[in-house]
Amino acid sequence: MPFNIPGALVPFHLLINPRLIMPQMIQDIRQLDFPELRRAGYRGAVFDKDNCLTRPHRDTLVPDLEDAWDECRRIFGPQNVLVVSNSAGSQLDAGEIQAESVSHHLSAPVLRHPSFKPSYSCISSIRAYFASLSQPVHDEELIVVGDRIFTDTVLANRMAHHEHVFRPAPAPSETIERDQMSSIDGLSKGLDAFTHSSATTPLSSARVRVGPIAILTTAVWERDSPVLRRLEMQLMKGVERWVVGEGQGPAQDWTDVRYGSFFRELAMPEVLRREKPGLVKRLRRRWQGD
Ligand SMILES: [Mg+2]
Repeated sequence: MPFNIPGALVPFHLLINPRLIMPQMIQDIRQLDFPELRRAGYRGAVFDKDNCLTRPHRDTLVPDLEDAWDECRRIFGPQNVLVVSNSAGSQLDAGEIQAESVSHHLSAPVLRHPSFKPSYSCISSIRAYFASLSQPVHDEELIVVGDRIFTDTVLANRMAHHEHVFRPAPAPSETIERDQMSSIDGLSKGLDAFTHSSATTPLSSARVRVGPIAILTTAVWERDSPVLRRLEMQLMKGVERWVVGEGQGPAQDWTDVRYGSFFRELAMPEVLRREKPGLVKRLRRRWQGD
């Protein structure tokens, strides 16, 4: 596989913006509450392919994800769910044969893009696709789901920006925050309310993230780049601990409050079910005659 230069340059961007690798984490797409996302104003989705929807280098959906995938396409609409892969549809896909195959098996459009995720060129291709729909989908109406931090999470966070808005100092009669901040629609209303508040009301500033939700799936359907995955995860945990802080400072913006209701608990963690027992456990079972 050719060297992913946009991905390799991510560490330099992190020196400027370490939050670039901060995702919302789920196990797999079955944890996404698509009806709740739709109610909150999200209208489209970008999905990675390998180890998110399919096993690496395969074109068919992981069978366990079929119900969730069907629900996603039904809720958002087939054209609003886009597969963006660094294999199918990329420069590696000569003749776009794999893109055609994936599109057929997943019943979803596959983006053709000239450069790898998380490049800005790839972001432009994603925006062009969603802008071309009969009802265009904006960045802040998207979720971006993938299993790799340096490609999928960074791509989503590069599509987002933060805005400083001013709001009146909290008063007992104001109840906008919790309920209205739980949706994009509510966020707009909240911003309007803040913007048009009386000039005599004391103001305080707030930081609002505007852009797609970056969602990282942690279930690995087939072993793939374990060292890089571990490095990415350690770096992410380092940023969370040393830069973002645990719910302190910049991390505590309205965004974090808004996302909680979009994720479901899984009945039984698939990772634990599929986890291969370690050497010691296998030897012990053998001695015990299991
Ligand atoms: Mg992947």
